[in-house]
Amino acid sequence: MFRYLLDIKDPGTAATALGTAFHQTIAHNFQRKIETARDLSLAECLEFFRNALGRQLETVRLQKDEHPMELLELGETMVAKYIEEAAPSIQPAAVESRVSGVIGGVKVSGYVDLLDTEGRLIDSKSSTKPIKGIAHDHRLQLTSYAMITPAATGNCRLDTVTKGKTVTLIQKSLCVSEKDRQYAEVIYPMVQDSICEGIFLPRRSSSLCSRRYCGYWAVCEKEYGGSVRE
Ligand code: SF4
Repeated sequence: MFRYLLDIKDPGTAATALGTAFHQTIAHNFQRKIETARDLSLAECLEFFRNALGRQLETVRLQKDEHPMELLELGETMVAKYIEEAAPSIQPAAVESRVSGVIGGVKVSGYVDLLDTEGRLIDSKSSTKPIKGIAHDHRLQLTSYAMITPAATGNCRLDTVTKGKTVTLIQKSLCVSEKDRQYAEVIYPMVQDSICEGIFLPRRSSSLCSRRYCGYWAVCEKEYGGSVRE
């Protein structure tokens, strides 16, 4: 609602700045790989990442305990992890391609991170906290893309570079099932009805709902009251 209906620019956070720069770097590597059939060198990726992160950090307000150099160091480690361990075995067929279709009678569109030459959807992301499996929202997202991407087989993988005690690459595979498709077919019309009725429930119980992860936290408190956790 804040972004698409009220047109409020996402103020961003350190986590979103890092995530966006990471995402752009990985996409840049695979876009080039479609043309050249090889990954960029790590040095080229790190240079791209540094520039991307610099641009992102110009627009966000950091919390007191967040420092640009620490973010840069963490991000570089994450990029190196992904480029060295995940990228070599991925053969991209399409990167950041726009797809659209109809799910449960609702028009749906989005951008697929990566479709490989075997018709598998691969989503790559960074996370500053450990992850357990594929979160519910992400499962719905991958299911949706599998349903509206013509060359997709239904096989998907979520690659997450995450920061625990050390930086780790976690790869989780998902084969979209009939139950997943049925759930999407049911949920989309319900969400569309809510939007048409102007019903936008804040999701304060979401693991991403905090001042650290949601740039809209201040406007959300103003709109709905309550307190968004630190
Ligand atoms: S602060 Fe929480 S409920 Fe509000 S917009 Fe962000 S994630 Fe949603």
